[in-house]
Amino acid sequence: MKDDDLIKFEDQVAIVTGAGRGIGRAIALRFANEGARVACVSRTEQNAKKIAGEINALRANSAKPYAVDIADHAAVQKIGAQILADFGRADILINNAGVTRDALAMRMSLEDWDRVLNTNLRGAFSFSQAIIRAMTKQRSGRIISISSVIGLMGNAGQTNYAASKAGLIGLTKSLARELASRNITVNAVAPGFVITDMTVGLSDEIKNTIHAKIPLGRTGTPEDIAAAVAFLASPEAGYITGQVLCVDGGIVM
Ligand code: NAP
Repeated sequence: MKDDDLIKFEDQVAIVTGAGRGIGRAIALRFANEGARVACVSRTEQNAKKIAGEINALRANSAKPYAVDIADHAAVQKIGAQILADFGRADILINNAGVTRDALAMRMSLEDWDRVLNTNLRGAFSFSQAIIRAMTKQRSGRIISISSVIGLMGNAGQTNYAASKAGLIGLTKSLARELASRNITVNAVAPGFVITDMTVGLSDEIKNTIHAKIPLGRTGTPEDIAAAVAFLASPEAGYITGQVLCVDGGIVM
């Protein structure tokens, strides 16, 4: 690998939601390792500070923590403005923060439906809205949302989650059409099964059933997802927009 390949995002600012743990943390570290300054957004101040601290230990003053509940539209607009004021620009937005509240439809509470939709789908809309004006003025930008293979296939017990992840795909394609003339690309990454806090608690039975459906025969790592995100955010992906890239070991093909 040439040195140039390692500093693909030098002078760029990447905003990563849900950067505190799991896939978002791997994405934030990947951008930092490739030269970007990173706005680390998490629900809790503790996790936002932890990842920003890790990145600043790698390269001083290259990350800042932001704690916000992305389901709170007004709070997201404020944080978005704060990030733009702190960094002066925003080149990459990764809508990664997400939650699950699983139950069969017959028993699902409206509260669980709303929590998942408002976080996973409306949160991505809110953050995109907070940032696209700045990207439009810059006439460049990358927006990547983390969907899921569940948004493409459905899953019993996850009507709320599947609807939110399918919704993200519609949001991605529509935003891609709205923003293409401003040189802003908008894509989605659909991970398969990745071991993080979100999935670690599943029973061995469910894990084994999922595992059996993965042609490549292994679960994904947060770094597998971060690699695909980094590609879509890179200059090499400048002619790709409105797409869903499955990073799932072949579950969906
Ligand atoms: P995770 O380990 O549970 O981490 C979720 C992250 O999102 C945390 O940093 C959390 O903040 C943040 N978050 C949750 N609710 C939030 C809110 N209301 N406001 C702001 N931040 C919030 O999950 P993960 O497995 O890394 O998943 C990341 C994304 O990938 C999610 O969108 C998920 O749906 C998607 N995905 C995951 C898998 C998988 O197998 N793991 C598969 C497909 C898609 P705190 O750390 O501060 O709590």
